[in-house]
Amino acid sequence: MAAITMKNIVKKYGDGFPAVNDISLDIADGEFMILVGPSGCGKSTLLRMIVGLEDITSGEMLIGGDRVNEKAPRDRNLAMVFQNYALYPHLTVFENIAFPLRLHKAPDTEVKERVNQAAELLELTEHLDRKPANLSGGQRQRVAMGRAIVREAQAFLFDEPLSNLDAKLRGQMRTEISRLQKQLGITTVYVTHDQVEAMTLGDRVAVLRKGILQQVASPRTLYQEP
Ligand code: ADP
Ligand code: ADP
Repeated sequence: MAAITMKNIVKKYGDGFPAVNDISLDIADGEFMILVGPSGCGKSTLLRMIVGLEDITSGEMLIGGDRVNEKAPRDRNLAMVFQNYALYPHLTVFENIAFPLRLHKAPDTEVKERVNQAAELLELTEHLDRKPANLSGGQRQRVAMGRAIVREAQAFLFDEPLSNLDAKLRGQMRTEISRLQKQLGITTVYVTHDQVEAMTLGDRVAVLRKGILQQVASPRTLYQEP
C-alpha cells in the first residue's frame, strides 16, 4: 500500500488558474520523493495540502490508506521540517526535541529515552543543554529533525530545508538527511530547487509545471546527459 496517495488533487486560490491542477501521485512506503519545478509551480501548495495546512479544493488525499481531507494537521501524524526551523528560542535542545512528547504528556522516563535516542542518531548528544541561539545552522536543522523523529511520524516533509545554509553545510546536511532517511526507512517528500539534492537524495523526482505534474522519473533518467 502506498504511504501517500493523491487522487486528482486540485487547489484553487480564489477564482484564478489552479495553483495545483489535477495531480495524481502514489508515494510508496519508505520512498524518498523529490518535488521540483520553477518558482510558483505549486510545490509548496502541494506539500501544505499533504500536511493539512491548506484545504484541498477537490480530489482525495490518502495517508496510510486513510482519507485525510478533513483531518487537522495534528491528526495526520506527519512531520514537516520548515526552512526556518521554527525552534523555541527559550527552550534547550533537549526540550525542543521533547516538545511533541510533552504535548502528549509522555512520562519522563520515556521522554528521556526517546530524546536521547534521537540525539544520538543526530549527533546532538553534547548539545542537549544549549539554546538554539548557540547552535550552528546545521545543528538547528538537526534539532528540527529530532523533533520529527521522536513523534514517530509516518512521513517527513521538507520544504527547501537547506536553502539558507552555506555550500559546505548543505553538503553535510544532504548526507545526514540521506543517512537518516535510509536508517529510519521513513517516507519522505522533499521540495527543492537544487539538482544535486534531487540527484543524491531522491528515489524518484516529480516535476511540476504551472500546477501540473509533468513527469515522474528516477533522478538518473531525468538528469542523464543527452
Ligand atoms: P512553489 O512552491 O512551487 O514556488 P506555490 O505553491 O508557493 O509554488 O505557489 C503556486 C501558485 O499559487 C503561485 O502562483 C502562487 O502565487 C499561488 N499561491 C500560493 N499561495 C497562495 C495564497 N495563499 N493565496 C493565493 N495564491 C497563492
Ligand atoms: P516560496 O517561494 O517558498 O513558495 P512564497 O514567498 O512564494 O514562498 O510564499 C510565502 C507565503 O505566501 C506562503 O504561505 C504562500 O502560501 C503565500 N503566498 C504565495 N503567493 C501568494 C499570493 N499570490 N497571494 C497570497 N499569498 C501567497
